[in-house]
Amino acid sequence: MIVLKTTDEIEKMRVAGRVVGQALDLAGREIKPGMTTRELDTLIETYLRDNGAIPAFKGYHGFPASACISVNEEVVHGIPGDRVINEGDIVSVDVGSIIDGWYGDSARTFAVGAVDKTRTELMECTLQALMAGIDKARKGHKLGEISSTVQQTAENRGYGVVRQLVGHGIGKSMHEEPQVPNFGSPNEGPALKTGMVLAIEPMINMGTREVKTLADGWTVVTADGQPSAHFEHTVAITDDGPDILTVA
Ligand code: MG
Ligand code: MG
Repeated sequence: MIVLKTTDEIEKMRVAGRVVGQALDLAGREIKPGMTTRELDTLIETYLRDNGAIPAFKGYHGFPASACISVNEEVVHGIPGDRVINEGDIVSVDVGSIIDGWYGDSARTFAVGAVDKTRTELMECTLQALMAGIDKARKGHKLGEISSTVQQTAENRGYGVVRQLVGHGIGKSMHEEPQVPNFGSPNEGPALKTGMVLAIEPMINMGTREVKTLADGWTVVTADGQPSAHFEHTVAITDDGPDILTVA
């Protein structure tokens, strides 16, 4: 069942979402070569807690940290730890918060120092795919319009669109119906309605779309070892169009 949110509930989700946006802004300012992914996670967790948010990922199915931090060939769900961030890396940071029982979920991929052109273009295209998908998040559209727009934006550039992981509805739980795939036909899926809130999150690979999960049970990497990028926003569908809740 897809849970529709009232205008008041969407405002509560915006409170949770804003802190996520601010935590990602902080991550973007602080990320630098030589830092470990654990150090970055600690900064994010401290920011969330200092601003009244519970880190939504910590303890979720046993996940041990507040952010998922995924470097280069890591697609999503990287566990913060001793991995050192280097000049030229691209680092995907995914943050979730809970405030007053409502969830926010957003991700960005950051360039660390000087990054080569192919990686920069991958990141730019992934953000572009997200924003083009968000623009289709309008009442009366089929959900598939979001999915197909994301897919076309990435595949037109020759990139691989991950199939095994998808976006999701979000509200009083992190993952609600419906699933929001980053691929598919524009006329499939449920009709979008005012009050739906979706986490739209393209995961785009430089090479093959195939991925695998490492032995830690969490970290998803590209099957060919090439880099991947990930951008995500929590978006409410309103009478006036898409409303991004995870802006700082
Ligand atoms: Mg996320
Ligand atoms: Mg998500």
